[in-house]
Order: sequence, then C-alpha cells, then structure tokens
Amino acid sequence: MILGDYHTHTPHSHGKSTMEQNIVRAIELGLKELAIADHGFRHMTYNVRRGDWHHIMNEHESLVQKYPDIKVYLGLETNLVSSKGDLDIIDEDLEHLQLIVAGFHKYVKSNNWKDVFSFYMPNFFAELFGKTTRRLLAKNTDAYINALERYPIDIISHPQYGITVDMLEVAKACAHYGTYLELNGKRVKSPDSEILMTLEKTQVCYIVNSDAHSLDRVGDFSLPMSVIERIKIPYERVANWDKLPTFRSHRK
Ligand SMILES: [Zn+2]
Ligand SMILES: [Zn+2]
Repeated sequence: MILGDYHTHTPHSHGKSTMEQNIVRAIELGLKELAIADHGFRHMTYNVRRGDWHHIMNEHESLVQKYPDIKVYLGLETNLVSSKGDLDIIDEDLEHLQLIVAGFHKYVKSNNWKDVFSFYMPNFFAELFGKTTRRLLAKNTDAYINALERYPIDIISHPQYGITVDMLEVAKACAHYGTYLELNGKRVKSPDSEILMTLEKTQVCYIVNSDAHSLDRVGDFSLPMSVIERIKIPYERVANWDKLPTFRSHRK
C-alpha cells in the first residue's frame, strides 16, 4: 500500500482544510507520513504569503509535537518562474523547507517580461491548441533540467500539466539527481506509453500523491493507482509503495 502522501494543500494557499485536519485524516487512513506542500510564493492567486511563513512553521511545529505517530514534512509546491529554471524560493528558504515539490503553473509572477512573452504565453497557447513547437519543447525541457540541477527538488508535481516537455530527458535528469516524478491524484497527464518509456529507459522512480485541496481527498490515490495497475508499473519503482521514500533534499 501507499504509506505517505507528500502533496497536500491548506488554506495558506488553495486548500480548504487546515494542516491539523489533513494530519488527522492521514492518521485515520493509517498513513505513516504526510507533507504539506502549499502553492509557492509567486503563484498569482493561491500563493503562500512570505509574511505568513514564520507562523506556518510554528503551526507545523506544534502539530508535530501533538501528533508524534505520523511524520509531517513542511514543504512547498514551488513554481517554475522562468525559462532558465528559476523557482520561487531563495537560498534562505532551503534551510526551512523540509520537502521541495516543484511544478509548472500558468498563473505565476515570472522573473521578467521576456519570459512572459517567450515562455508563459507560448505555453498557454500551445496547451490551448494542443500543439507545442520543437523549439518550445526544447526550451521547456531545458527549464526543468536547469531547475533540477540548481535546486534539491524532491518531487516534480504533475509532469506535463500545462507545459509539454521531453519526458525522457526530464526523467533522465530526475534519475540522475534522485528526484521523484509524481503520479498526481487529480491529473496524470503523461500518456501510458510515455510513463512506460521513462521506466524502461531510465532508473527514475515515481511517487504517488493526492494533491488534496480538502481533507476528504487526503490519501485519495485512486487515479494514480489505476494507472499503476493498468500499465503494470513495478512497485519497486514507486517510492512510497510499502516503503518510505528517501528524499533528495535529505540525502547528504
Ligand atoms: Zn500543482
Ligand atoms: Zn498542488
């Protein structure tokens, strides 16, 4: 079974249920580990506010004391904010973050106007019309690979959602750095054949997460589990199946 859920939201970003409610639900479900990974600082509408971070850390710390039977990581679902692979975190954040999830979201404050016109808008239209040019595909892939090189990213959230990349190249980089690719509870955008190809040609491991925005969805792995069963992903390639993941940012 899946032992941990490493991507859940709270009202600090776009979630409805509190950190405590998510924790209590995870305990009820028998999960051993949980991560809070709210939307990063530069999401336009659902961002965690920097000014709240200290308070969030205190909230997390008191809940860790209150619920010793479950390990709760305080993470963040950081945003890719440039074609160079910048994430919306600074060096100091790395000292406080216990889990770094990184994903592409359409509505973020980019680093510069050039990226708005040459990265975000082209991807917006590419997704709208279902066609990504080779040039944009290469740019997107480089953005992910640069981010993987520059930051100790633990999990890439919902790959291929809102942006199309060369999944084999991204999977190779993930395997190299020890970053997990997510099978997301709300959306698995990679086609079956692509997931199988990354497993066959690289050593990448996947991780199953709910991406819950309310407590009733914490630990809901039905969509990713249906993919695992349908295409027969070997369980040893699922980082949180019957075992606990070893996250990249925690390795020395
Ligand atoms: Zn997301
Ligand atoms: Zn999310």
